[in-house]
Amino acid sequence: MLVMPRAIPMGYGQQPYDRFVIDVEGEDDGGRPVVVAREDGPRWRLGAEGQALGRIRYRVDVARMEREIQSASDSSRARLGYLSLLGYSVFAFIEGAEDRPARLEAQFGMEGDPLRLETEAGEILLHGVIDRVDVDALGQLRVIDYKTGSSRLEMRDLEEGRRLQITVYGLAAEGMLKLGRLTEGVYWKIRQAGPSALKLEALNYVSEAGKHYAGVNGAADLVRDYIGNYVAGIREGDFRPRPPEGGCPAYCPARLFCWRYQPA
Ligand code: SF4
Repeated sequence: MLVMPRAIPMGYGQQPYDRFVIDVEGEDDGGRPVVVAREDGPRWRLGAEGQALGRIRYRVDVARMEREIQSASDSSRARLGYLSLLGYSVFAFIEGAEDRPARLEAQFGMEGDPLRLETEAGEILLHGVIDRVDVDALGQLRVIDYKTGSSRLEMRDLEEGRRLQITVYGLAAEGMLKLGRLTEGVYWKIRQAGPSALKLEALNYVSEAGKHYAGVNGAADLVRDYIGNYVAGIREGDFRPRPPEGGCPAYCPARLFCWRYQPA
């Protein structure tokens, strides 16, 4: 099965990428052509059930993609270079994951029950939309969030509680949407057409308090702990300012008075 992303949000609209894919061909492991059938959605079935595939080829009509994506909305016209890059980048990602059907824009808690997260501060209710979930034949999940900027996507951004989003998505995909068992989580850096160094499965972190967090389950515990702390701090009115790495930006409106802050 060859699976393409159906669409990706950009600017104010969405683009169905699979309509730019043409001339899909396949060969079995002996180099003989196999039957290619377009299925519903961005999927192509290649060969008969159980037939081994040796090669899949397809072409992307890049000229058409650029033409149509770039004229998709006013916001798109303002970012010509970026949008063509976005298209190449998403195809690059799919190249490495053709055997894993993708679920795109998976909503959780947007209608009906929210995601319920048990924390030290009590139950926290969350909702959101997951850019992409891959599910393999064993029911293992890889959760992906597309990022246009590439800052704060290192492991320490998870370890130090600045980048919690993908873990929440993983909890929602596994526990609430019941799509399978979470085994991987990553941010896809669109401009670099590559994955982030922050990978949930690679987490191996010992906090200052001596608590060890490892892998996707450790990431879930870590994120519960951080969210619980943040919510408890908000409830106590603790909004103490913390200068960012590299110093405070000149445009921060709190620059002249934040140093006077004292916790209640
Ligand atoms: S000046 Fe702004 S950025 Fe710097 S610590 Fe204060 S609030 Fe934070």
